[in-house]
Amino acid sequence: MTAVLLVDDRRQNLVALEAILEPLGHELVSVLSGQEALRTLLQREDFAAILLDVQMPGLDGFETATLIKQRERTRDIPIVFLTAISKERQHVFRGYEVGAVDYVFKPFQPEILRSKVAVLVDLHVKTEQLRQQAELLALQGMAELRRESAARYRQLADAMPQIVWTADVRGRPTYFNRGFIEYTGLSARERGADVWQHLVHPEDREDMLSRQRRALESVEVFEAEYRIRAADGSYRWHLGRAVPMANPDGGAEFWIGTATDIHDRKRIEEGQGFLLDAGVELLRTLDVEVALREVANLAVPVLCDACEFDLEDTSLSEDELTPERIRVALVSYGRTLGSFTLRAEEGRHFDETDLDLARALAQRGALAVESARLYTEAERRARASRALETIADGVVLLDREGCVLLWNVAAERITGLAAADVVGRRASEAIPGYARFAERVPADGSRPETVPIEHEGRELWLSFSAVEFDEGTVYTFRDLTEERALEQLRSNLVATVSHELRTPLAAIYGAAVTVRRPDIDVGAEMSDRLLEIIEAESNRLVEIVNDLLLASHLDSGRLQLAIDTVDARALTTSVVEAARTHLPEGITLTLASARKLPPVQADEQQLRQVLVNLVDNAVKYSPEGGPVTVTVGESEDYVLWTVSDQGLGIPPAERRRVFEKFYRLDPNMTRGIGGTGLGLYICRELVSRHDGRIWVEANNGRGSKFCVEIPVATTTVPARQSVTSV
Ligand code: ADP
Repeated sequence: MTAVLLVDDRRQNLVALEAILEPLGHELVSVLSGQEALRTLLQREDFAAILLDVQMPGLDGFETATLIKQRERTRDIPIVFLTAISKERQHVFRGYEVGAVDYVFKPFQPEILRSKVAVLVDLHVKTEQLRQQAELLALQGMAELRRESAARYRQLADAMPQIVWTADVRGRPTYFNRGFIEYTGLSARERGADVWQHLVHPEDREDMLSRQRRALESVEVFEAEYRIRAADGSYRWHLGRAVPMANPDGGAEFWIGTATDIHDRKRIEEGQGFLLDAGVELLRTLDVEVALREVANLAVPVLCDACEFDLEDTSLSEDELTPERIRVALVSYGRTLGSFTLRAEEGRHFDETDLDLARALAQRGALAVESARLYTEAERRARASRALETIADGVVLLDREGCVLLWNVAAERITGLAAADVVGRRASEAIPGYARFAERVPADGSRPETVPIEHEGRELWLSFSAVEFDEGTVYTFRDLTEERALEQLRSNLVATVSHELRTPLAAIYGAAVTVRRPDIDVGAEMSDRLLEIIEAESNRLVEIVNDLLLASHLDSGRLQLAIDTVDARALTTSVVEAARTHLPEGITLTLASARKLPPVQADEQQLRQVLVNLVDNAVKYSPEGGPVTVTVGESEDYVLWTVSDQGLGIPPAERRRVFEKFYRLDPNMTRGIGGTGLGLYICRELVSRHDGRIWVEANNGRGSKFCVEIPVATTTVPARQSVTSV
């Protein structure tokens, strides 16, 4: 039923209108003023027409119509003005201006009024129906469109290689694309609310679910990397993303998610990280076994489920790849050092990416093996060269070009040439006498050759052996200078001693023959002289033989001393007095002794021997005569003797050597002074057995001064020395 609004300030007019329109069967709402009409229209808008009196107190008809037309919801309701006043054009015009559709003039003709209202209402109702229909149509069209676009989206989603899904605001899946179904192989029944719980790898699940929860709560983009189980049970890495789709109020209406396969990228990333770790592990140690074990620990379970390095297996010619096993060779500098086998268990299938990774790892493994071997070799060589450094023989290593590669410590010590001055240079320039020994020493190590080498004014006798090898020649040498000198001395001794013995023997023989000559009467006096010579020369022979015996006892350690307290002053006096009895011409012998001297701790007979030797030498080596002075005095815990002469003297460089056995400054006796070279040797040995010292100094530029120190006697005599002498 439709309604018509009747507006007139006079009640009787309203009653008349109601009576006229009643037969139309519409609801009639009557009001008495413009204001009341507006109020009514605020409450209900379903009027099919308004009949409006023009002449009204307060708001008149025009003003009321203007206000009705201003309101959007009432603008289209047709208005019929009711007026009695005027039919003037201006008046009518104003009515149309404010939106009237018709005028009806009082007094009304009932049929005309009724039919006008009927038409208006009818028109309004029809218009309204049309509008509603149009609206309905539009809605239907949209729904169709929506259906179509949803289908398109799905087609699109199905065509995508990724996994695509949608979910409701609470995250419950509402759609999965073909990609998902094909990848997971799940049936519609299995694609429930907890589908992800089952599909995501147990190790990634917790992280993924917590990110999902956060995204749902905050309605922000969800993103996570996780492994999704494929239809065959293997897992592949995916990048999952879900974006909330907003409804008009700004809240999420649903979620669109994608999962992109990043397995290969992830594997490469993982592989690189892994290789980096492996590289570090391999660098950390030089023990092959430790290094390879560390790498194996890294490889399982990231890369494989079990693995094995085999350093015996060097036969692998081509790498092998099956889904369950990889076998690659460990190759370094073109040499196969072993093999590396990786095994997969359920849920893992090896592919080319794994093979590449295994190869890269094998390469690093091979490098580690190689460098550990090199290290061991270097260590071995270092040990060998340390041994070379410590051995007593000099070692020189030359390369094929004759450059010095090694000059060990002993070589430095023996020759006095520093390694820094020799190594890296040509041997012919750096080593004095190289040409001589290189040419004389056989390079097959067959026999050593002793070669003299001169360096800084010193003559060294070095015994060289040489061995040639692939990379050069190694020479070893030892210093035989002293042995050589001794050798020299020995041969000197033979000459000296034979000479020393022959001289008195010749004298004895000559004297004896003369005494016994039957043809000549030598007379008693002459005979006495000759017998004296025989006696003196025999004594001389005994002395020489005694010296030789004593030296030999000292050498063999058979001489034992009878240590006692000895009066130094009395001993010295008796030595000097004995010497005075047979002084040659031109020699004066003086004794200067401290008045009071402490007793010394000595074997008197041996100490006398020392002093006698020194005084005899002083006299003997003053061939032109001169003073010989003996002093004796106290010096701290010692008694000090000096025996000085102004004779031939001893050059400073020889002062140490005169104490050596058989050493003589003038071995060929050019000055005619005989001797065995044993006297000072015997002195030195005896003094050292008394815990004393003996040395020689220059005597103020003329001759020599021999000094002897013997410890002062303590109250008790040390037990070890209280033994008998030979
Ligand atoms: P020798 O039997 O030759 O005298 P020594 O051992 O007593 O043997 O002396 C060794 C060498 O020391 C002597 O040959 C001599 O050249 C030198 N010598 C020893 N005493 C003196 C001295 N007082 N003055 C000069 N030269 C000396």
